[in-house]
Amino acid sequence: MRQFSYVAAADVGTAVDLMTRTPGARYLAGGTNLVDLIREGVEQPATLVDITSLPLTGIEDLPDGGLRIGALARNSDLAASPLVRTRFPVVAQAVLAGASAQIRNMATTGGNLLQRTRCTYFYDLAAACNKREPGAGCAALGGFNRMHAVLGASDNCIAVHPSDLGVALAALDAVVEVAGPDGARRITLAELYRSPADPPDRDTVLQPADLITAIEIPGLPEAVNSHYRKVRDRASYAFALVSVAAVLRVEDNEVAHACLALGGVAPRPWRAHVAERELLGRPAIEESFRAAAEAELAPATGREHNAFKPELARRTIVATLRRLTTPAGAS
Ligand code: SF4
Repeated sequence: MRQFSYVAAADVGTAVDLMTRTPGARYLAGGTNLVDLIREGVEQPATLVDITSLPLTGIEDLPDGGLRIGALARNSDLAASPLVRTRFPVVAQAVLAGASAQIRNMATTGGNLLQRTRCTYFYDLAAACNKREPGAGCAALGGFNRMHAVLGASDNCIAVHPSDLGVALAALDAVVEVAGPDGARRITLAELYRSPADPPDRDTVLQPADLITAIEIPGLPEAVNSHYRKVRDRASYAFALVSVAAVLRVEDNEVAHACLALGGVAPRPWRAHVAERELLGRPAIEESFRAAAEAELAPATGREHNAFKPELARRTIVATLRRLTTPAGAS
């Protein structure tokens, strides 16, 4: 039995202060990933700073039509919010695709973005893993790498980021609000995640005492539709082989606005800028979608067990865009 201390923070400032003064401490919110990591021995925090009573659960309108989501808003509340469902359906769809109802009832919005990879070797203390122990090696390189990355990986680590919500928020240019020892700051989702080419043990640019307090989604232009499509090994809850979040507006049968992000293929929610550039101004037809998908996946590198992923990603991009441009009820 490993012992640890437990302390509940009463406000954001106290939480950050406790973390700053306590080496080896971890924030505890929903605990849906952290508790597993502790049980497996991957994480061994000396202290848990419980932040669940902080007033960070609101989901509020922003003047530009966007939303400000408190970092402790439960995933179930996020998916059920009428504001989210009507204005940003891609977010609700991603959350509902991400986990069972029981987990959604516990998991928080901030925690969802900070969950760690589900690479099986990361959880296996007998396996070499640079993310657990920099310099140890990567068992997945020569091991069973069916679920691993085909874009943006490095020989340090080929694990994928597991968050569905993060993929939807990447497509929506979301911004993360952070409270830290030096005050509050804002980080775009694109800036939040680090490359595994650096030592891959830290997934994000956040320092240990940094606390995500909210996520802001900017308002969208008129007549934009969005959709999240997830491909997985089984119909019940599983991590994505490939997922696509798409935000699209079509005018006069041409693509006037396109934001795409991919999940299950990279160490971070993968913003598909190349595909977006290919789509803009093109006819909203299957040939354009396929060309954009081909361009985005051109640098993809499959390994022994995941060589199918680049083509699966291309097809999922096309299917998602087709869904957004097919009138409801049409086949
Ligand atoms: Fe560890 Fe990353 Fe290799 Fe998985 S892919 S074993 S997380 S270094």
